[in-house]
Amino acid sequence: NEFEDYFLKRELLMGIYEKGFEKPSPIQEESIPIALTGSDILARAKNGTGKTAAFCIPALEKIDQDHNAIQVVILVPTRELALQTSQVCKELGKHLKIQVMVTTGGTSLKDDIMRLYQPVHLLVGTPGRILDLAKKGVCVLKDCSMLVMDEADKLLSPEFQPSIEQLIQFLPANRQILMFSATFPVTVKDFKDRYLPKPYIINL
Ligand code: AMP
Repeated sequence: NEFEDYFLKRELLMGIYEKGFEKPSPIQEESIPIALTGSDILARAKNGTGKTAAFCIPALEKIDQDHNAIQVVILVPTRELALQTSQVCKELGKHLKIQVMVTTGGTSLKDDIMRLYQPVHLLVGTPGRILDLAKKGVCVLKDCSMLVMDEADKLLSPEFQPSIEQLIQFLPANRQILMFSATFPVTVKDFKDRYLPKPYIINL
């Protein structure tokens, strides 16, 4: 397979090649075309497999940069991972005009609220803070049709799970969920049964 096979936007393909990616990794080969069809995905994937690009590429492809709205949310368990993931999105999307914002607990809520007055297409962050912003009405998720959960086994801890379930209520009914997890504890299975009953399963 080749990245050309997915009929991606030319600007996105340029970003992919400039990052030095020549061919899709196995997880990307499975996840990119399936995610582009709108299907939910449950992927068992370790770090180092190229999983970040496996969800960032379809996310960037699906975003309409002329529509000023949050269209994708990427949930991660830590600020460090949020920063790394947003960096990958910015690099791959270097030639697109997609605005990426990072928001996590432990930083100024007021600054985030100010930032949300400016366009944001893709939001990367931790569940509690995104929920706070959604509840305040400053983070509008009605056009967010893709939710990515990276390190889902960590996200579905007692600390985050209630926030994630509330957050999903702010998404439109046609939302798609892409879940990536290194392990499949019962918390992940339960969540899958309730929110992505018929996902495409990737098991590498
Ligand atoms: P990840 O599993 O997302 O942490 O990615 C692991 C490493 O693989 C990162 O340094 C990526 O930049 C790199 N990578 C991801 N996809 C590809 C690809 N298709 N070709 C070459 N390197 C890649």
